[in-house]
Parts: sequence; C-alpha cells; structure tokens
Amino acid sequence: MKITDVEVLYLRLPNLTIKGDGSQDAVIVRISTDEGIVGIGEADSSPLIIKAIIETPPSHSASIGLRDLLIGEDPLEIERLWEKMYRQSIYYGRRSVGVHAMSAIDIALWDIAGKYYGVPVYKLLGGSYRDKIPAYASVLMPDTEYEVEKLACGFIEQGYTGVKFGWGAFGKDEYKDVSLVAAARRAIGDKLSLQIDIGMEWKTVSHAIKMCKRMEPFHLNWIEEPIPPDDIEGYARLARHVSQTIASGEELTTRFEYWDLMDKGQVGIIQPDVTRCGGITELKRIATLAELKSTRIVPHGFSTGILVAASLHFLAALKDGDLMEFCRTGSPLNTDLLIKPIEFEHGMVVVPQSPGLGVELNEEIVKKYGYRVS
Ligand code: MG
Repeated sequence: MKITDVEVLYLRLPNLTIKGDGSQDAVIVRISTDEGIVGIGEADSSPLIIKAIIETPPSHSASIGLRDLLIGEDPLEIERLWEKMYRQSIYYGRRSVGVHAMSAIDIALWDIAGKYYGVPVYKLLGGSYRDKIPAYASVLMPDTEYEVEKLACGFIEQGYTGVKFGWGAFGKDEYKDVSLVAAARRAIGDKLSLQIDIGMEWKTVSHAIKMCKRMEPFHLNWIEEPIPPDDIEGYARLARHVSQTIASGEELTTRFEYWDLMDKGQVGIIQPDVTRCGGITELKRIATLAELKSTRIVPHGFSTGILVAASLHFLAALKDGDLMEFCRTGSPLNTDLLIKPIEFEHGMVVVPQSPGLGVELNEEIVKKYGYRVS
C-alpha cells in the first residue's frame, strides 16, 4: 500500500471571534492510499500554519513540507515515517507547530492501519483495559458565584464524574478566585471531583504557592497551570511547597519536553494533547516515561470528535487511562462533523469499535464549513 495524497481541510465557522473558544475552527488532515483506504487526523493548532507546513515545497534536505515526505510511502510504517518527518523538518520543526502537523498525520496513519488490519486502533496499541472512559466536564470559569452554581448543577444532572473550571475569571482578584472555587465546591458537594485551571494567571511562583494554600479547604483533584509550562524551576518550587497535585503541559510537544516537566518540574499530572504532542506514536512514548516517573496522564482535549476518538483509543489501551476531558460546546464542528457522533452516557465516553479510529467525516459539514483563503 502506498500513500497517494495528503490533504489539509481548513474548517471554520462564519462568525469566528478571537475571544471565542477553540472549537470555532479546525484543521483536519486526510491521507489517501492506492488501496482506497483513507485516514483522518487533526491538529488543534493554527490551521493555516499547519497547512503551510504540510504543503510547502522543499527548500533543502532538512526543510521539506510533510506532504512531499509521505507521497509514495507505505502508511503502515508509522514509526519510521514519524522519524522521517521529524528529521526532515528539523530546522523549522522539532517542537510546537511542526510537531502539531506531524500529530495530525500520525493520527491519520493509525486510522489507516486500523482500517487495513480491520481492527480498532486500541487493538494495535496493545489491547483494551476499558470500553468506556470516565469524563470530566471542562468549562470556562464564569464571573459570578450564581453562574458557577448553575453550571455545576447542570453537570451533576448530565452524569459527569467531575468538573473543571478554568481560565475566564481566574487570576484577576485573589479573593474572588477563592470565593468562586468555594461556590463550585458548595454546589457539587462531594458528589463530583473538582479541578481548576488557572490558565497561567497566578503569574509568580510565590503568589501561586500562596493561592494553592488558600485552596486547600476545597479538596481539589488538581490545580492546573498556575504558571507557564516552560517555568520548570517554578514547578519544582511548587512541588516542594504545595500539598495539592499540580497538572500542566497541554502546550508541550514531544517526549523531551514532557520529560523535563516530570523529572525536573515534578508535576503530578501531565496533560498531553494527542493532536499537538506528536500524535498517538509520541503519546505512547510519553506514557512510558510517565510510568517511569509515576506521573498520571489525563490528556487535554478541546476540539472535534477526531481528537476525542484518538484520545479514547489511547486511553482504552493505557493501564491507568481512566479519566478524560470532554467538552461539548455548541459548535457544529464539535457536534456535527462526524457521521456518527461520539457516544456519551452516564458520565462515560464510549470507545468507538469500528476499524481505525472508528469515526467518519460528514462530508456535508466539511463542505459547508470548508474555508478558502482568497
Ligand atoms: Mg488547561
């Protein structure tokens, strides 16, 4: 089998606003083969940059667009192709968007492999520990205690196992941070786990240490990104001074960056996003390192059903992959992009069982939201 094409689909809602959430646009990669098997993947990144990285013509031997590296290759040789892409994009790639683009391609290759062998991707990853993954709801922190309580009650009704309030109102006033979290805990009682995502708004390590201590009465499952993920020394200081579990890393790419965050930064939970970190291939390597460091993985996920499906297969095959972020925004790119949506029942997300990722694009939605740059 040979790869015959690598297409980049840029989907975008007509009324996109930069203050809105990340589900307003998406970049999907579709890889075709000479045997008629087609795979899909996604990068949660900046769509036109991803498009450029994949489609750009070669300028010299270590600066080649990813599409040119893949045409004519055997799509089943996934690890070799990962190394080929990494090596030949080494000057413009290695981290960040270069690896985001590789992630989308890698996911599409796993989809092709599953379809070729007639099995769901989790079987290729070693087999399934579970067929449903417990999900926590993830939502922006609103401005008032009333709104916090209303949202929290809705999540209890929908059956989620936990809730995370993040970004939004956090970090502007320390008294308000405490009162909003107190309202969340009051509203959910001890029925659900509660975690908060500071979105790097606590700024200094000293302030973050002080605020973590003030959050102790609310029994948080974790405190996420109080400071930027590159501040490895800051995370190490937090680990020495704070009793709660600290989570971080949704922005990072490759095992090299996660190793530093775990080894030097001593975080308790890493949050790789499969559509950014290097795809399923790299996420497996990161998981091996995480096991060596006794660090938990709770993947980040805030985009289409392709990301959700890739995360589900990874978690199904991970020994302790028993929690995922699950966002249901009103965006049609989240709700309608797949012919058969990802199933959510009683707080659990169901792992697709068809070959490959087990999801198919709804071509009408692709056509409707396909965006062309003039
Ligand atoms: Mg986050």
